[in-house]
Amino acid sequence: MYLKEDRIMIIDELVGFSNFYGSNEELVLAGGGNTSAKDGDTMYIKGSGTRLCDITAEGFVAMSRSKIAEIFTKTYPDNDKEREALSLKDLMDAKLPGQENKRPSVETTLHSLFPQRFVLHLHPAIVNGVTCADNGKEVAKELFGDSVLWIDPVKPGYTLAKICYDTLTEYKNKMGKDADIVLLANHGIFVSADEVEALGEKLYSVIAKIRAEVTKEADFEIGDFESENFQDMVNEISAVFGEDSIITYEPSTVALDFAKDKESFNKIYLPFNPDQVVYCKPYPIYVEKVDEIRGTVEDYKEKNGFLPKIIFVKGCGLYGVDYSQKGSETAVALFNDAMKIAVFAESFGGAKPMSPELTDFIVNWEAESYRSKQ
Ligand SMILES: [Zn+2]
Repeated sequence: MYLKEDRIMIIDELVGFSNFYGSNEELVLAGGGNTSAKDGDTMYIKGSGTRLCDITAEGFVAMSRSKIAEIFTKTYPDNDKEREALSLKDLMDAKLPGQENKRPSVETTLHSLFPQRFVLHLHPAIVNGVTCADNGKEVAKELFGDSVLWIDPVKPGYTLAKICYDTLTEYKNKMGKDADIVLLANHGIFVSADEVEALGEKLYSVIAKIRAEVTKEADFEIGDFESENFQDMVNEISAVFGEDSIITYEPSTVALDFAKDKESFNKIYLPFNPDQVVYCKPYPIYVEKVDEIRGTVEDYKEKNGFLPKIIFVKGCGLYGVDYSQKGSETAVALFNDAMKIAVFAESFGGAKPMSPELTDFIVNWEAESYRSKQ
């Protein structure tokens, strides 16, 4: 017999662990990550534009699992825009009545593939130190053997979900059980379990094993910056971006290291994961002198069609620029995360950014531009 209390309990549990893990900045930032719970044919999934740290029951979208499953029986066009638009429409059609004004997370189809009751998806910098490393795949195999499934870098949305569908099916056939820990290259981690407690056990067992192998961490103490120049930079950035721009300044030791010269900056120039593209724009810029800012920003805008949000200045560190306090601070938080990943990845053969093709896909992906606007 179906009891209304069961549903209330499952939502309480879902909200509880979403807020708990979502409030830990070591695990996820801004609107990143997502969670879900299944109850019979219904799946409750985080709505796009919500944040795990403060999501409530209303932030989740109730979906039909059997309707989502139909997506995997269909064939979609190869063209990126057409494929994503059509599969998004099918995903929207899988919403249950009463959910019309909500939009499910871009990773909904992926959540539906796990048969377990609860799914937790996060982007921890330490885990991404492996998923964004040159030797990441080999390291994952060595550390976790068959207990963790690795997914190579792939376009998010339908393509990622389809590859996960095939890989999870193959895993089950081979191992005789369902996968419950998945590492997505250049992205993050999925853990799934029937009990909420088991989510944390699985997540922290992965983190502990990686941490034991890490030999170097990013240093976020304030470094030795050129205090006489930093205000000139602020004034010039403000002049170039406009009076309504908000600048967040961070002279951390790690930022100063990456701003040491062009060669050091190049190690952090390309993005590691979708969140970084969404909240920081795909590429930062680097200048050595105050009078280089205007030209460098103008060239960037002409080439990319938008303004940069992260500026590295030799001797000064990192500046985040956006047109709201939140946007400016979030860009810096996400870029700090990127620097953490880059330094962690040094323990695993060095950092491996996303391919230009993947980066361009995310820049142009409607689902992500929707997310960043929320
Ligand atoms: Zn994600």
